[in-house]
Amino acid sequence: MSTKHDLELLSVTKRYGSTVAVDAINHKFQPATYTCLLGPSGCGKSSTLRMIAGHESVTEGSILLSGRDVSALPPANRGTAMMFQNYALFPHLSVRDNVAFSLKMKGVDTKERYATANEMLELVDLTDLADRLPEQLSGGQQQRVALARALITRPEVLLLDEPLSALDPFLRIRMRGELKKLQKELGISFIHVTHGQDEALALADEIVVMNDAVIEQAGAARDVFNAPKTRFVAQFMGGHNVIALPEGHFAIRTDAVAITAPTKGTMDAQVTAVEYQGTHVSLLSRIAGDQEVTALVPEAQYFTTPHHPGDQIGLHWDATNLHQLTA
Ligand code: ADP
Ligand code: MG
Repeated sequence: MSTKHDLELLSVTKRYGSTVAVDAINHKFQPATYTCLLGPSGCGKSSTLRMIAGHESVTEGSILLSGRDVSALPPANRGTAMMFQNYALFPHLSVRDNVAFSLKMKGVDTKERYATANEMLELVDLTDLADRLPEQLSGGQQQRVALARALITRPEVLLLDEPLSALDPFLRIRMRGELKKLQKELGISFIHVTHGQDEALALADEIVVMNDAVIEQAGAARDVFNAPKTRFVAQFMGGHNVIALPEGHFAIRTDAVAITAPTKGTMDAQVTAVEYQGTHVSLLSRIAGDQEVTALVPEAQYFTTPHHPGDQIGLHWDATNLHQLTA
């Protein structure tokens, strides 16, 4: 039984000639959820999103929305809408006409499409700018027009490809708050592609980590961050050490590594570098096997017993904080 509005990828593959951009991925996106598709450049995120939207054909596999196979449907008949990275606004149309564009294509009469466009402009707080042209707007305002234009089709799933990348850092943080709020208000699914782990952590209920055309790990944001399953996920999410112990390879958060004087029961280490980071101090040390371990120590705690490069120290951690890696 499929729940209404859930989106499922069944062994979806995308090939461009001999390039395998997406390799037989399976995933069920939860309804009414903010999901981030996260991974480095070239790993297949945009190809996946474009196949869901219908802007790119599926080479193999199928895409189900609310239990219905939409793989062969044109974009406008899928129940999805896409917001593009460059916004793709029509320069010669007013903000209101840009937002109302897809309704015009559907033959909706002027009065009705303006009424709906006005509702959407209200939703993204652009009512006062409805008569302007795109070039008369800031980047953040253009982005909200693009958002309203995508939402006017009342999609079940909104697809966003790196929607914040063109904004300056300050605006990016403000806009991500607005996106998150909007998703909760609308109660639909957002699937947001990003290569930034901080952006994914800030926004996502669920994170799908892609690498090299496959899904490495998917789950609740906190689970993916706290318990990475592979070396790639641990390193890409950041904030983790990957260390080899006799039992295998493990990830441990840098803030879960504690420092003492070398004593029984601690792991011998020698400090190699100390970096002050404001709220924390990052202390790098070398353990057996020439492995480096980072410990992130709250700054007040660090300065009660500061350590310096060359000092012998003891490292310890709670065994429950060690996560065994499968690859
Ligand atoms: P991402 O969005 O994660 O950066 P893409 O899905 O854009 O990754 O690309 C995945 C792979 O597919 C890359 O190797 C890229 O070069 C290739 N690719 C993407 N689009 C095309 C295309 N239209 N034609 C040929 N190769 C493509
Ligand atoms: Mg991309």
